[in-house]
Amino acid sequence: MFWNEDINKIKENLNTDLEKGLTDKQAFNLLKQNGPNALPTSKKKSIFTMCVEHLIEPFTFVLIALLIIAAVLNKWAEVIVISLIVVLEMVLSIYQERKAMNSLDSLKKLVKENAVVIREGKKFTIDVKNLVVGDLVYLEAGMFLPADVRIIQSFNLRVNESLLTGESNLIMKTIDPIAKENLSIGDRTNMAFMSTMIAAGSGLGIVVATGKNTEIGKITKLLQDEEEPKSPLSRQITFIVRTICLFALALGIFIFCIQYLVSGNSWVDALVFTIALVVAVIPEGLSVIVTVSLSLGSRRMAKHNAIVKRLNAVETLGQVNVICSDKTGTLTENRMTVTKYFVKDEVEEEKTLKLSTLQRKLFLQCLVLDNNSSVADKKITGDPTEIALLKWAEDLKLNSNSIQKSYPRVHELPFDSERKLMSTVNKYDAKQYLFVKGAADNLLKRCTHYLIDDKKFKMTEEFKTNLIAKLQEMSDQALRVLGAAYKEIATKKPNFNNIEQMEKNLIFLGLVGMIDPPRREIKEVLVHTREAGIDTKMITGDHLNTAVAIGKELTILDNKEQALSGEQIDKLSDRVLKRDIHKYQVFARVSPQHKVRIIKALQANGNIVSMTGDGVNDAPSLKAANIGVAMGVTGTDVAKEASQVVLTDDNFLTIVDAIEEGRNIYNKLKRIICFIIITNLAQVLAITIGIFLNWGDLLSALQVLWINLIVESFLAITMSMGPNNPRLMKEKPIAKKENILRGSWKFIIYVSLITATLLIVTYKFLPLGLETSVDVEGYIYAFVFMSNAPVFYSMSFAVGRNDFMLNKMLLQNRPFLISVLIAFIINVGIVFIPGVNTAFGVEGSINFVEWICCFAIAIVPTILLELFKGFLVLIKPKVDKKMEEEFPEFAAKQKAKAEKKRKTEDKILAKKEKHDEEVDKKIEKTKAKIDKKKKKKNKK
Ligand code: ATP
Repeated sequence: MFWNEDINKIKENLNTDLEKGLTDKQAFNLLKQNGPNALPTSKKKSIFTMCVEHLIEPFTFVLIALLIIAAVLNKWAEVIVISLIVVLEMVLSIYQERKAMNSLDSLKKLVKENAVVIREGKKFTIDVKNLVVGDLVYLEAGMFLPADVRIIQSFNLRVNESLLTGESNLIMKTIDPIAKENLSIGDRTNMAFMSTMIAAGSGLGIVVATGKNTEIGKITKLLQDEEEPKSPLSRQITFIVRTICLFALALGIFIFCIQYLVSGNSWVDALVFTIALVVAVIPEGLSVIVTVSLSLGSRRMAKHNAIVKRLNAVETLGQVNVICSDKTGTLTENRMTVTKYFVKDEVEEEKTLKLSTLQRKLFLQCLVLDNNSSVADKKITGDPTEIALLKWAEDLKLNSNSIQKSYPRVHELPFDSERKLMSTVNKYDAKQYLFVKGAADNLLKRCTHYLIDDKKFKMTEEFKTNLIAKLQEMSDQALRVLGAAYKEIATKKPNFNNIEQMEKNLIFLGLVGMIDPPRREIKEVLVHTREAGIDTKMITGDHLNTAVAIGKELTILDNKEQALSGEQIDKLSDRVLKRDIHKYQVFARVSPQHKVRIIKALQANGNIVSMTGDGVNDAPSLKAANIGVAMGVTGTDVAKEASQVVLTDDNFLTIVDAIEEGRNIYNKLKRIICFIIITNLAQVLAITIGIFLNWGDLLSALQVLWINLIVESFLAITMSMGPNNPRLMKEKPIAKKENILRGSWKFIIYVSLITATLLIVTYKFLPLGLETSVDVEGYIYAFVFMSNAPVFYSMSFAVGRNDFMLNKMLLQNRPFLISVLIAFIINVGIVFIPGVNTAFGVEGSINFVEWICCFAIAIVPTILLELFKGFLVLIKPKVDKKMEEEFPEFAAKQKAKAEKKRKTEDKILAKKEKHDEEVDKKIEKTKAKIDKKKKKKNKK
């Protein structure tokens, strides 16, 4: 019962030191003794469970039914191929599912959970797993508690314990013992518990329980992993597969009837053939292909420093058309250096500061004391803004450690992105001083006096105006400007929890400006994103002028009119913000609430928004965005938890890389689906025509199954492993809610028709040309054609519609090339190896010349596809241009049509806006009426 014991007693019991913490040796032994600080996780699905799950899927069920029928009918070749399909599909899907699960798990582990501890008197950042009982651990806003701790220092430390208590009110943490035996978790206010969230403040705690011994560890024996929800793409694919299934079933019934009733085949043969055809038409391998593509993509993203926590995110990334990026650290290097300061008359170079007056002395002391970074072995660690301030002090030959020791800290009002200020209370000789530093404009509003040299003056409008001018002068040079102020605390027992009261009536000391250079590569990356149809908006907590100066340098905006401050956002209604949002590129001095409004306004205009964030208060905007991206280095646990993507290098370029990956995955899947549907459709068309013309089955059940196996299990899966196509970043983003096959149906039908026609030609007319028999060789020719044609055109699909087949991208995909080669070899083997050819029904006297002829016809669809690409890439743009030149009237008509469509859309939008406006007005009127009535009532 750590809550009712005195801190010193706990210290003794746990054999630790309240200043120096544990020794390394103690920590090592405790870790060995008690094991890592981790909660037990749920067991993975066993292979057996996965096998059973796979076997009871409808597609596998149909296959097994077919297998049994074939076995009963002694059709052993069919039995072997169907078994091969069942086993191969099962092995592949289980292997891929496991691999995807494992890689997602290991990717999640890459997002390190760290804790800052004091051991042997030094601050360390360690992996949360290595925390042991007795460790002194720092606590700050945005963190999830890394273990159960007894609080020994609390600066407005407020924790959300709803996970354990169900109560969402924040609990203010205290340090004094509570003299009660039985206390519920919610009442143990001097303790904090693993996995609960620190919402505000900061403090220090002694670890009293780790891992399964913590309160959360006791409740949850097993931490259930959340089930991965289906992505929209997976849902689309399921829809496509289901539609094809229904189509296949209808077709199956139809073909069975014709075969049995019209052609007079035995019902058994008709049934086997029908089921084989139905199975062949159903693209059962597609779901596995989607998982493979997404998990491959997520692994590739991890290599490029983006950790995707959900596979869904990979897909949404491809649709992003607006990136809302914060400035510090993402667009800039987060390497701050003080370059300017202002205390009197003019803005001066940083080197010139001399501690000749009280004002200058207090100014620097404020920046050193109101600061959480620390110097050890000449190295400064902490927040970059604060590091810059300590570094400045050290460069001016001040010993920050001795200043911090001489004026010990009594209390801290931690920095938060709402007030943009941080304060500390320090013992100052016999008195107590409050030092405040932070956003200069916010600070100025709280100052009633100012110090010049050694004299205090009452704040005047003239002084304020001059100060704002200096602030703007510094911000215009892209400097982050912080103000410093102080006051003496008169009361003996001030109410530290009343921040507003504490940070009031301050005495202004001076301004300090620091430069944070933009990342060098950003300008180039922004050109790249613009080409990709992605708009980049900068959202920052910094001053408007600083943001504009950096924005201009990075070419994010051209003039100040394209920037909006948080204050200005407050004056706009949601409707107006939505209407005008496209005019702005930079948003400055924004609070977390503003960020959410900006995202909602962008989304209301149909944009897919990616948002970056790091702070505890960024969680709502990270969740509101379509893709929340957290900073892995500087981000808080809360921000990482709320996002789908975590950047391990906090770099803007990484977001763009991830978007490129998302687009590529979508594009690959589109090509794979087209490839599978075309092959299936071509066979169905040719076979159906054959049946109608009473030619018999152009392909046997076994052959159809075999082609299905090569296409879906070999070629399509390995196709998804291909390299990315950089060209996709020169196209527009994938439209929201776009059907993956939008715009491809015509293409699918043409290519299927061509392939089906060629199949019929090979079967019916090639024997005529070669003077062989349609009834014997025709069937063999048909099989040679149809088993090889997809292998050829798979190479054309593997590179996409904008690149010709034999290019670097194809050669880079080794697994695919190997499967192409294997497919060709097996296809040859099936025709020429005695016994195998009998099983496949292609035994006969086909010679090399005949085989070459069929093989040559099998290349034709590929050649046509490549010619079509040539037309699209080389000729169409020229034809379009020529049309415009030679038939200006026609081109103008087309343009006018498009313009008319746009205008109609605009009109509809305007109408809707007007309607919204009217509704807003009505609501306001009603509100006013109700207020009036209330007032009247109150008067009465
Ligand atoms: P972004 O990364 O989005 O650009 P930011 O880092 O500029 O955000 P905040 O961290 O919220 O945004 O900082 C906003 C302002 O708060 C800064 O411009 C600065 O004036 C002030 N500020 C930042 N860090 C501190 C700090 N440690 N102490 C006091 N004030 C600070």
